[in-house]
Amino acid sequence: MNCKYHTQDKAQWYCHQCDISFCVNCCDINPREIAPRCLLCRTHLESYGVSDKVTPFWNKLSEFNKYPWQENASKFLLTYMGIAFVIGLITDFIPLVMIQLLLLLALYSIGIGYVFTVLTRGARGNMNAPSYDEALVFNSDSMTFKVILLYIELIGLGYIGYLIFGGGFILPYIAILSFCSPAMLIVLAMEKHVSSALNPARIASCIRAVGWPYLLLFGFSFLIDLGLEFAQGQLHFWLPQAIAYPLLFGVLAYFYIVKFSMFGYVAFQYHTELGYGIDAENLLENDDTGVVKRLMAKADVYIQEGRFEDAEDVLYDLANDKAHTVKALERLVRLNIVRRNPVGVVKAANNYYKNPKLATIGGDALRLYLEIIGFEARFKPTNAGARTVLINHMKHKRYEEDVNKLSAINEKLQTDVNLPWLMLARARFESEVMNNDTSALQMLNKLLSKYPRGGHQREAEQLRQVCQSMQQKLPSA
Ligand SMILES: [Zn+2]
Ligand SMILES: [Zn+2]
Repeated sequence: MNCKYHTQDKAQWYCHQCDISFCVNCCDINPREIAPRCLLCRTHLESYGVSDKVTPFWNKLSEFNKYPWQENASKFLLTYMGIAFVIGLITDFIPLVMIQLLLLLALYSIGIGYVFTVLTRGARGNMNAPSYDEALVFNSDSMTFKVILLYIELIGLGYIGYLIFGGGFILPYIAILSFCSPAMLIVLAMEKHVSSALNPARIASCIRAVGWPYLLLFGFSFLIDLGLEFAQGQLHFWLPQAIAYPLLFGVLAYFYIVKFSMFGYVAFQYHTELGYGIDAENLLENDDTGVVKRLMAKADVYIQEGRFEDAEDVLYDLANDKAHTVKALERLVRLNIVRRNPVGVVKAANNYYKNPKLATIGGDALRLYLEIIGFEARFKPTNAGARTVLINHMKHKRYEEDVNKLSAINEKLQTDVNLPWLMLARARFESEVMNNDTSALQMLNKLLSKYPRGGHQREAEQLRQVCQSMQQKLPSA
């Protein structure tokens, strides 16, 4: 399904009221609201899901690997290793099991708080690593408690199974658990209830929502765990705690950040299928071109619906932003030509030709001018600088009439500071396009006698010399 107004773009939202599908660019997204609103009737829109529109997680593996290298994440890792070092030192010197356990618990708790923050952020489409402080705001204690509770219950279930079915139960049970663990962790992070994470129906629905790609997710997660186990065995065996701890927990945290950033992204990619909400603004491109695209897209909707006043409002909004004034005004001119509204055309056009940097977009300015006079033949930019730019760009005979029209300056404009430039442009046109050096010379003489000094002087004198030498050559030729 594609957007009704942008038939190239996939539809992202649906309005029940209007029975219209919108792309991500053409609806009103307010970060404080649960869902974007319909531009036409203002009701909340329904999401079509993003799983077929965002890059699938299996194509983003390198991004998950880079996640721990983001500044916030690597700062966390360093801090975490520092804490692990201190705790390792303490356990080396105080061989009390109770204290060792408590310290370990604290260490795990910090790590769990961080990786679950990574997951819940990613689930909203935000792949920027959280800072250590942001992770602390996340209630890491209760999450740690829930993770421990989850493990205790799983071990309990295994024990009960062992009592009932005997030793043959253990291996299949571990295999199933390991297969379900990504789903369990995602459900736990998103719903924050151990009971949902243990609910076979919920786990199954999560796996079903992701579909076959879940096998990939499981595969990646399993490989990471395997590697970690190997590292753990090696480090623990050879080194004293004070060195083993920071290394061990550093590696652990590193790979769990990778893993949980992947889980989070999966929850984002399949959020509709999983039944989770996301922050709609995370779907948007947040750079400058994204902003323009969205405003233009909104204008499209209004134009196609015939709501021209609304379209004009959007475009004048866009024109307020200096970086986009030109584009927006150009669109406004065209919009009003289509509407057959001369007042609107002249208003927008005069604003457009006020642009002090018009010379840099001379070609566009000329094209627009030709469109305008095709509709409103009497139009002339009130700004002499703009007329100069236009004349400079009319280096072709077919423009002669237009040049004359543009150069017919009324008295009021005689004092315009741009008049010398306009006369120079006219002279250049006469000489270069019309091959009429006599009238070019007339214009230049008038210019230099009236305005002998100024930025235009050197250029005018050069041109006069060229014209004079051309004239001397002609009779002898
Ligand atoms: Zn659209
Ligand atoms: Zn609607």
